[in-house]
Amino acid sequence: MPHLRRVPVPDPTPWHPALNQHDLLTTDDAALTEAADDFGRTTTPARPLAVARPTSADDISAILRFATKHDLLMVPQAERHSTAGQAQAPNGIALDMRGLNTIHDITDDRVVVDAGARWSQILDATLPLGAAPPVLTDYLDLSVGGTLSVGGISGATHQHGLQTDNVLELDAVTPDGTRVTCSPTLNPDLFNALRGGKGRHGVIVRATLRLIPAHSHARWFRLRYDHLATFLADQRTLMTEGRFHHLEGQAKPQANGTWTYCIDGVAYFTQPDAPAENRLLTGLADNRDALEANDLTYHGFQNRLADDVALLRTLGPWQHPHPWLNLFLPDHAAEQTLAEILSALGPQDIGESGVVIIYPVPRARISTPQVRLPATPTAFLFSILRAAPPDDPIALRRMLEDNRTLQQQVMSTGGTVYLGEPDR
Ligand SMILES: Cc1cc2nc3c(=O)[nH]c(=O)nc-3n(C[C@H](O)[C@H](O)[C@H](O)COP(=O)(O)OP(=O)(O)OC[C@H]3O[C@@H](n4cnc5c(N)ncnc54)[C@H](O)[C@@H]3O)c2cc1C
Repeated sequence: MPHLRRVPVPDPTPWHPALNQHDLLTTDDAALTEAADDFGRTTTPARPLAVARPTSADDISAILRFATKHDLLMVPQAERHSTAGQAQAPNGIALDMRGLNTIHDITDDRVVVDAGARWSQILDATLPLGAAPPVLTDYLDLSVGGTLSVGGISGATHQHGLQTDNVLELDAVTPDGTRVTCSPTLNPDLFNALRGGKGRHGVIVRATLRLIPAHSHARWFRLRYDHLATFLADQRTLMTEGRFHHLEGQAKPQANGTWTYCIDGVAYFTQPDAPAENRLLTGLADNRDALEANDLTYHGFQNRLADDVALLRTLGPWQHPHPWLNLFLPDHAAEQTLAEILSALGPQDIGESGVVIIYPVPRARISTPQVRLPATPTAFLFSILRAAPPDDPIALRRMLEDNRTLQQQVMSTGGTVYLGEPDR
């Protein structure tokens, strides 16, 4: 039997007498309030009956057995950077994975980490040894379990796939409380169910992740465009030719109602071998007078959002509602659909700190069965990362309704949803 630590649970609990029997759980008010919320703040906070704070796989087995026995919803959660309540456990047990965050062995080509570890921790541990995970999310303070449960996409995806495509092995606990190790060759069905599985097929406890050699520096080019068609055409060229290690793009609303576009192309290098600019930029149709180029350390580039996030936290918008929409567009419909959607979208629809992200994804690089992409060889990630005004439920509802309409529109062209509403 797993060893259960003593965590006092108020007695009697008003909700579920069975909870009293289990000492791994806390019903502390602050813990329940924290577990009820997420980054999105688009749903009503859903308080769990209790929060479990496991520090071992045995703890997780015990909690899962308990939840199954008492027919309680059990939902793993970590950094709660979901935007539609995906990590909430209404009237169930929230399994807070943040205490399981050890970085274990690091060798040249792999690192073994607990699922509650953040990608920032992993990078800090591997970079001094000259290695890094091939795909890092734009924001690094997301947990391994959290992003492996959705996919984990970034500007490196055009070369290396998703984070879920770079997992070598997973240790997990299945809903009946059984501990299982899985990989592409060992229990492959479970391996495929867990990656992109949104926490529904078991709890990821530990992951063995691929590492590649890391450069010391990054040259970050920002190429600017006035026209959607040339922006998309250059993105396709850059994706196909693989000129940059990192390739993303944004659409930016202008005060006069039009949109401009930019491509972020980043080439990593180790000094003094600076990348050859001619080779990287030749033949592109960007507005060359507006080209920006900056050199950063490799870590500085990967951690590029840190200063903005600190500012947004201090000024407040980080805590405002975030009705985000993350879709994949099939290449054949991308230009027309984006033109239609953007023509009806203005700065007030995405909010002051909102961002619209557009970049290409080659289907051939993605091998995670649970992440559905359009059937075309190339898809475009299309993310409207809205920031709603605080204390304005009408504005929030309008943005959420708009998201549902746009999702339908994109799906009618053969598009798919990357991060959608939970289906439980
Ligand atoms: C600022 C910001 C930037 C982002 N940037 C990117 C990006 O560049 N690329 C990208 O792909 N996504 C990005 N995302 C989305 C993010 O990857 C997902 O929301 C991710 O699920 C959040 O991880 P988390 O640790 O906060 O997980 P949580 O929100 O706590 O949980 C997310 C989901 O994972 C499940 N889960 C958590 N841990 C486990 C586990 N150990 N085992 C099984 N299931 C588990 C939960 O049940 C839930 O369904 C971003 C989000 C934010 C807020």
